[in-house]
Amino acid sequence: MKKIFVIKEKCNGCMSCVVACTLAHEKASTYQSASKIEPGRISVQAVKGKPVPLVCHHCENPACVNACMSGAMQKDSETGIVSNEGNLQKCVGCWMCIMACPYGVITPKKDGSQKVAVKCDLCKNRAAGPACAEACPTGAIVLMEEEEFADYKRKITAYEIKD
Ligand code: SF4
Repeated sequence: MKKIFVIKEKCNGCMSCVVACTLAHEKASTYQSASKIEPGRISVQAVKGKPVPLVCHHCENPACVNACMSGAMQKDSETGIVSNEGNLQKCVGCWMCIMACPYGVITPKKDGSQKVAVKCDLCKNRAAGPACAEACPTGAIVLMEEEEFADYKRKITAYEIKD
């Protein structure tokens, strides 16, 4: 399956990915309104002054799915997408998925009176694919097959070693 990969060296911290994600998922129609909504599905953390985007890996054996006691969080056997969308009524807001996720990319949210865990769904209902990858101006977030990304990393590493 194609996944979102991060090339952290290319990130300039502009947050376009976060805002695009919010526009794609939340009730926000403008850049300004999206900027005010707390992001939930992707984040860009500052580490030693450098931006580091964090995205869901849609793991083969997802710790969040294994930890979810209600069955809300599931991995789609056809697409490989890990999500609780479509099962939100089952989410009891216990945050076990958040505690189990090794990448810190699940966020607790209040949806009316219900508490739900929010995470990347690879923009599965968006014709153009993941909004974050489309919006990133530097190519720091890419949608690739796993082997395609591995090949890219091999080439970049070889180039760096050569120099
Ligand atoms: S849009 Fe790209 S460059 Fe901007 S913060 Fe996100 S990953 Fe970094």
